[in-house]
Amino acid sequence: MARVYNFSAGPSILPETVLAKAASEMLDYNGSGQSVMEMSHRSPVYEEIINDCQSLLRKAMNIPDNYKVLFLQGGASSQFAMVPLNLMNKNRKADYLVTGQFAKKAKQEAEKFGEVRVVASSADKQFTYIPEVTASDFDKDADYVHICFNNTIFGTKYPYIPETGAIPLVADMSSCILSEPFDVSKFGLIYAGAQKNMAPAGLTVVIVREDLIGNVREGAPTMFDYKVHADNDSMYNTPPCYSIYMCKLVLEWILNDIGGLEKMKERNEKKAKMLYDYLDGSKMFRATIQGKNRSMMNVTFVTGDADLDKKFCKEAAAAGFVNLKGHRSVGGMRASIYNAMPVEGIEKLVDFMKAFEANN
Ligand code: PMP
Repeated sequence: MARVYNFSAGPSILPETVLAKAASEMLDYNGSGQSVMEMSHRSPVYEEIINDCQSLLRKAMNIPDNYKVLFLQGGASSQFAMVPLNLMNKNRKADYLVTGQFAKKAKQEAEKFGEVRVVASSADKQFTYIPEVTASDFDKDADYVHICFNNTIFGTKYPYIPETGAIPLVADMSSCILSEPFDVSKFGLIYAGAQKNMAPAGLTVVIVREDLIGNVREGAPTMFDYKVHADNDSMYNTPPCYSIYMCKLVLEWILNDIGGLEKMKERNEKKAKMLYDYLDGSKMFRATIQGKNRSMMNVTFVTGDADLDKKFCKEAAAAGFVNLKGHRSVGGMRASIYNAMPVEGIEKLVDFMKAFEANN
């Protein structure tokens, strides 16, 4: 069996032990005589899976009791609409920080529901940095402030959590959730598409402070009301059962094999440092993001020559390092080194890059 090192931005690499466990339980989950894929979501055996997944997530992220965890579908992109539908209802105003393509999409979607103000943007420098903002930059009347914490395409991450005072802070954490500990109490709402650090695609996780639930806009579709999902423990309709099961296995891996999010962070810092250190010393490759705004999950880099970039990606893929091509909107390369990428994957990639540099 030859598994590649998969640097895809999402859906992405999953821990091998998790895949092996899922494979071993594929035909008969825990003596039930069924695959998790086949089970009724209302059966006691499945209820235990979804409940375990929620408790493990609460434990790993230290989620306070006054927050609900919702297992939804529709991707992070659905949250671009669901957030304003549920939260933009007092003054019908919200503040957005635009730090990349997904932040921009979120802002554009919110504009359908009310008055959106762009507090800061890094579009002036092709989204290569994170603007610094303080509490006084926000509109006191804003119903919430929205940020994209890790910008998957450009490879930036907030080096700080913006202080928004009494205004709820909403964060798209699709590409950094579970990569390190975050103080959940600093946020009103966190959402993430699961297909990077949590599970296969299909599951969208929302962590929302209870007082922000129950204010959906009149006329909103039932499925777009956080209260409906919270009141029904994410079982109003059929949840993405198998992805939730996989998320449970991933959380067990984080808690039991890795030792929790502090340890996950150490491992991720080590991996990112290894790659950035090489890029900073290389005469051929250059990291596109500098200093404290660098993402620990998505490392973007270029050679400065589009043909050489192409050659590199092609030869890397042939050597078993796949999905290194940058996003189609920015070009160059991107190594997404999510939680499941082993340290060894980065070591081998750096060795490969050194050899490529020497030969070209
Ligand atoms: N936000 C971020 C930060 C992302 O990286 C992505 C997907 N790559 C999205 C939102 C969109 O997510 P989805 O495809 O789950 O709608």
